[in-house]
Amino acid sequence: MIKLVNVCKSFGDLEVLKNVNLEVKEGEKLVIIGPSGSGKSTTIRCMNFLEEPTSGEVYINGTKLTKQNRIQVIRDNIAMVFQQFNLYPHMSVLKNLTLAPMKLHHKSKAEAEELAYHYLDVVGLRDKAHVYPTALSGGQQQRIAIARALCMQSKIILFDEPTSALDPETIQEVLDVMIKLGQEKNITMVVVTHEMGFARSVADRVVFMDHGQIIEEGTPEHFFTDAQNERVKLFLSKIIR
Ligand code: ADP
Ligand code: MG
Repeated sequence: MIKLVNVCKSFGDLEVLKNVNLEVKEGEKLVIIGPSGSGKSTTIRCMNFLEEPTSGEVYINGTKLTKQNRIQVIRDNIAMVFQQFNLYPHMSVLKNLTLAPMKLHHKSKAEAEELAYHYLDVVGLRDKAHVYPTALSGGQQQRIAIARALCMQSKIILFDEPTSALDPETIQEVLDVMIKLGQEKNITMVVVTHEMGFARSVADRVVFMDHGQIIEEGTPEHFFTDAQNERVKLFLSKIIR
C-alpha cells in the first residue's frame, strides 16, 4: 500500500532521514514513535510528497510517486490529519467538509453534503455542521478534521500527532474516534503519536525512529515488554504512564 525505499531527506546540510525503508500493508495500522526531531513528521510527509525525498522512492499502491503524478496519486489515495487541525476558519464546518470533494472529486453539492453528514455522524458532530471552527473546542475541531479526511474517501489516512495540541480533557474523544476508525479493515492508518494506550488498542505494528532512522520495530506489546535498544527503553520509560 505504502512503500518507502531507501528514503533520504536533507534540509540543507541537515540529514533528517537516512535510508528509511518501510512498508505499510493494506489495512495495516502503523504507529510511529520516537524523540522530537527524530524525523517522524518528515517520514509521513514523504509518504504524500508534502516533502519530496532527496533520494529514494515512494510507492503508493505499487505506483512510484513522481513530480508528474503525485497530485493525482495523492488525491486518489491519501488524506492527512495534522496536529494543528488546519481547518478553514472562515468557512462553516459543512463547507470545510464539502470543499475538496466538490473541487477535487467533482461531486455535486448534494453528494458532498450527504458524505459530510455521514462522516459527521461517524465523529459524533452532526449538530455542528453550520458552526464555524473557532466556536469549537480543540477536540471537536480535530474530530472535524478527521471527518474532512474521511470525506476524501481515501484508503490511506496519515495522522501527525493528532492529539498533541489538545487540552488533556479533549484528547480521549479524538482517540475514541481514531480507535473506531482502527476497526475499519480497509483503511490503512499511519499515526505518529506517543499515546501508547491508543497504540496498544489499534496498532498492528509500532516503529521507533531515532536520528532519522528506524531503530526498532514490533508489536505494541513488544515495546511494553521486551524493547531491546537502550535509547528506546529510556524513551518509553519517560512516555508510558
Ligand atoms: P519529528 O516529527 O520526529 O519531531 P521532524 O521530521 O519534524 O521530526 O524533523 C526532523 C528534523 O528535521 C528536525 O531537526 C527539524 O528541525 C528538521 N526539519 C524538519 N522540517 C524542516 C524544514 N522544512 N526545514 C529545515 N529543517 C527541517
Ligand atoms: Mg513531528
